[in-house]
Amino acid sequence: MQTAEIRRRWLQFFSERGHTVVPSASLVSDDPSLLFNIAGMVPFIPYLTGRETPPYTRATSVQKCVRTLDIDEVGKTTRHGTFFQMNGNFSFGDYFKAGAIEYAWQFLTTPTSGGGLGFDPDRLWVTVYLDDDEAAELWKKTAGLPDERIQRRGMDDNYWDTGQPGPAGPCSEIYYDRGPEYGLEGGPIADEDRYIEIWNLVFMQYQRGEGRGKDYPILGELANKNIDTGMGMERVAFLLQGVENMYEIDEVRPVLDRAAELAGVEYGGRESHDDDVRLRVVADHVRSAMMLISDGVTPSNEGRGYVLRRLLRRAIRAMRLLGVHGESLPELLPRSRDAMKASYPEVETDFERISRIAYAEERAFLRTLASGTTLLSQEVDKVKGAGGRLSGRQAFTLHDTYGFPIDLTIEMASEQGVTVDEESFRALMAEQRDRAQADARAKKTGGVTDTTAYRELRDAGETRFIGYEKLQSDSRVR
Ligand code: ATP
Ligand code: MG
Ligand code: MG
Ligand code: MG
Repeated sequence: MQTAEIRRRWLQFFSERGHTVVPSASLVSDDPSLLFNIAGMVPFIPYLTGRETPPYTRATSVQKCVRTLDIDEVGKTTRHGTFFQMNGNFSFGDYFKAGAIEYAWQFLTTPTSGGGLGFDPDRLWVTVYLDDDEAAELWKKTAGLPDERIQRRGMDDNYWDTGQPGPAGPCSEIYYDRGPEYGLEGGPIADEDRYIEIWNLVFMQYQRGEGRGKDYPILGELANKNIDTGMGMERVAFLLQGVENMYEIDEVRPVLDRAAELAGVEYGGRESHDDDVRLRVVADHVRSAMMLISDGVTPSNEGRGYVLRRLLRRAIRAMRLLGVHGESLPELLPRSRDAMKASYPEVETDFERISRIAYAEERAFLRTLASGTTLLSQEVDKVKGAGGRLSGRQAFTLHDTYGFPIDLTIEMASEQGVTVDEESFRALMAEQRDRAQADARAKKTGGVTDTTAYRELRDAGETRFIGYEKLQSDSRVR
């Protein structure tokens, strides 16, 4: 089943059951505490917290999401993309646990001829929160699940809150068993690679009080209980399409195939094979970059633009490690466009602009790489070996002379087992900044002319990037 068809069935299923279809919000979140929309519920937060009254009691959406937090998993697990689509159904004080569980079960297990996804009910497992006997009972009653396929999980996995006083509640996750050839027996608590999480149901049931982390009192039941769910469309697609992972689905695979062709390597779908991982990274990142540019993000040295820059650079670096040293985006991006345009026609109508931005970024990065890589490998060779460490000075020279951002130096060095003395790098950056400020002051009073201050402006931006991962991991939603 094609991804666009899963989307169509999803929206039809829930709209037939009284849900208002709400179009995906932009990837660029309205919520200032988030860089991007990281879950289907984000655009609905004002309704879920009761801050605003929703114009409907039931809604459904297919939300574009970007999770930079998952960037290091991409290509290595079967199921983490930086961009993905989360299908959600929401109830605002309307149906609750019983309704949410019933809908989820019905949609997943109704045969394809009857409008559902046709999952084999015997392969589905669920988790519920430790003391959520009500959910466990409902799973038994509604789905006929035996006790051993209803597992219990604690606060870390199966509890939702916003990080502050307000609504909170238990979750219930649905998993699909790929079979013994994929790992250990024993359900999702034993092995999340064999048992793939496909859907998370959040029951917003309680009012929580003040407290840090997960340590807070429950003040009582909410008067208006809400439902928020998120089904990962790429995960469902890969399971239904009979492929091994989300990078092999119809909306992603064409980029992977073109990258393999360009590199002259054969993709084998092997889990830990370096080239296969690189091909999956390329396929994932090219798509994410396209979707971000489509939503108005442009490459820059901070914030959202930095995430985009990093995605493009990682894709280009992966191509280089696959042996492709020239431009490759002009070959890859059109593949991604063609794979995504059925669901997002704007990537086609706006392709001239999107591609112009992406290709310019690639050309600039290839120039940077060409000049700095030789020096970096020389320096790395010198310190390679047990506990090898690149000095802050070396990292600084790469940055100052060749425009190598520190994270790239760290990443490239670590591929050779070498670490970087970041602390002294930052000290040198600060020193340079102070010097530049002094120069600027001197210039004002008619002193020396120097372009350092100019460069510093750029550099200051470049060192600020650390914020975004933190932003994302501290985010207030799942
Ligand atoms: P996992 O434990 O596998 O990392 P999660 O618990 O972080 O997933 P949720 O926050 O519950 O995921 O998101 C709801 C659904 O969105 C998940 O059940 C999954 O199907 C999908 N999903 C989450 N993260 C990703 C991702 N990085 N790529 C693709 N799908 C994802
Ligand atoms: Mg996760
Ligand atoms: Mg999970
Ligand atoms: Mg989850």
